Amino acid sequence: MPRKKKNQGESSKMSKSDSLSLRTRRRVILSFPPSVLQTPITYILAKEYDIASNILRAEILPEESGKLVIEMDGLPENLDKAIQRIKEFDIDVTEIARKVTFDMDKCIHCGACVSVCLAGALKLDKNFHLEFIEPKCTVCEMCVTTCPVDVVNIDI
Ligand code: SF4
Ligand code: SF4
Repeated sequence: MPRKKKNQGESSKMSKSDSLSLRTRRRVILSFPPSVLQTPITYILAKEYDIASNILRAEILPEESGKLVIEMDGLPENLDKAIQRIKEFDIDVTEIARKVTFDMDKCIHCGACVSVCLAGALKLDKNFHLEFIEPKCTVCEMCVTTCPVDVVNIDI
């Protein structure tokens, strides 16, 4: 059966906006054995998984093991695959847990954070009180910078 031809312009436009809304960030500590110190990890992440890496800390000595703390920005499924790939190089990967917390005692329930939360993790309930649906949160940090009374924090 012949396949329906895709509308290229439309599909690429959709996937670009989808990508922007679904990208998330994860911080990991990479511990390298000496044999893989030269492996271009950040290049592989960008080229094969469309992941932008920000090196937050590096401790690498020639001919010795090294450590990198990096923040990876990409689609969740790509981040999972990339972490698996990194492990195949015999690099130890430790994820640094991050989560968002709200100081509800100080929240004024203005809803500003709801409008920037593309993951749907924030909503105002029927009494116009902020509700945080934590399992949906991708820790994108958009609400942190949007809150006018500074009650959103990132816990590392
Ligand atoms: S960090 Fe804030 S804006 Fe981003 S997904 Fe979580 S609750 Fe929504
Ligand atoms: S932007 Fe800040 S004050 Fe407004 S609802 Fe969100 S957490 Fe509360």
